Amino acid sequence: MMTPKTSASKIVTCPSCGGDSVYAPSNVFRPFCSQRCKNMDLGAWASESFRLPTEAPPDDLVFGDAKLQ
Ligand SMILES: [Zn+2]
Repeated sequence: MMTPKTSASKIVTCPSCGGDSVYAPSNVFRPFCSQRCKNMDLGAWASESFRLPTEAPPDDLVFGDAKLQ
């Protein structure tokens, strides 16, 4: 686990895994704890975007689905 070496480091909750994340300039992935978590969050966001049109009733969102198909 990450341990702050100075009192200047602030620990926040990683939005992706819910673990500890060092919120400091040394952590370029903040507020995420790692590159992996940052990528996972972006992936989840992208999946959510693609999933919404798929689950929506085709008849009501015909215009929105047209550009995806
Ligand atoms: Zn994380």
